[in-house]
Amino acid sequence: MITQIKGLHHVTSMASAAQQNNDFFTRTLGLRRVKKTVNFDAPDVYHLYYGDEVGTPGSVMTYFPFGDVGRGTRGTGEVGVTEFAVPQGALGYWSDRLAGQGVSGLHQDALFGEARLQFEGPDGDSFALVESPSRERFAWTGNGVPQDAGILGFRGARFRLRDTAATAELLTFMGYKKSETSGAISRFVIEGGNAADTIDLEEVPGARTAGQGAGSVHHIAFAVENRAAQLEVRQALMDTGYQVTPVIDRDYFWAIYFRTPGGVLFEIATNEPGFDRDEDTAHLGEALKLPTRYEPFRDKIESLLPPIAA
Ligand code: ZN
Repeated sequence: MITQIKGLHHVTSMASAAQQNNDFFTRTLGLRRVKKTVNFDAPDVYHLYYGDEVGTPGSVMTYFPFGDVGRGTRGTGEVGVTEFAVPQGALGYWSDRLAGQGVSGLHQDALFGEARLQFEGPDGDSFALVESPSRERFAWTGNGVPQDAGILGFRGARFRLRDTAATAELLTFMGYKKSETSGAISRFVIEGGNAADTIDLEEVPGARTAGQGAGSVHHIAFAVENRAAQLEVRQALMDTGYQVTPVIDRDYFWAIYFRTPGGVLFEIATNEPGFDRDEDTAHLGEALKLPTRYEPFRDKIESLLPPIAA
C-alpha cells in the first residue's frame, strides 16, 4: 500500500458550449474560474478550471468545452457522480437557488448519513452537493454565494462499474479503506488526506458501457504533495503491473495517467506549483494563459477559440 495520495486533486469533464459551461460554474454554482487555458494536447479547445479562491487541490473542476459535440451516454466504466461539499444546513439554499435557475434533475436524499442534493449540469453532467463535516475549507464568495452555503471543494466521487472488485483492490493499494456499504454502493475513504477524501463504488452489473461525450467525466485526478511523491507512486503502480505515462508538465501541476481495470482514467497530480504560478491571485482565470510552446501561435489560437464573456 502507498501512502502518498491525499484525496482528489481535480476532476476533468467534457462540455459543449464554453460560455454556457463558464456561466454554470461561476454564476450558478458560484465557483471561481481560476484558470483559462487550452487543452495542452489540442490547443483549439479551451481548458477551463473552476474552484475556490486559489484553486486548492481537491476543489478544482475542469472542462474541455468542445462546442459542437454530442452528449455522453451514462453507463459503466465512468465517474457516475461528481460530489461537491457544502456546509451543514446549506441544501435548502441550494435547492431554492438551483430550482430558481431552472437546473434539472434536482433530487434530495441521503447516503451514508450525509444529506445530498443531486442535480444535472448543462450537458447532463451528474452532480451532487453533499452536506459535509467542516474541514477548514472556505467557499469562494466572489460570485454572490454566501460563505455559509458556498461550495467548499469536492466531497468525492462515485464510480459506476460493472464489477467493482479490481477497482476496490486498486483503491486499497492507493491508501483508501472501505468504510461502509449501502446496497450496491461501497464507500472508500482515505485517512490523513485533504477533505475530498471519499470514493464510492457502485456496482451495476447489467448496465451498458458509458459512451463519452459532453457531460462525461474524462478523468479523475488524485493529489500528491510533490514530484518526489509522484515518482514513488508511479514506480509502485508500475511494479504492480499498471501501465503509467511518463510525467507530463501541465504548467500548474505535474501529471501521470493510467487506465484502471474498471475503465476509469486516473491521473496522479502534484499539489505544486499551483494556479498562481503565472497570475496574481487577484486576477486568476482572467487572461488566456498558454503553455510556452504555444505562445508563438497565440494569435491563431485566440482566433479559433470562442470568446467567453466574464
Ligand atoms: Zn487532469
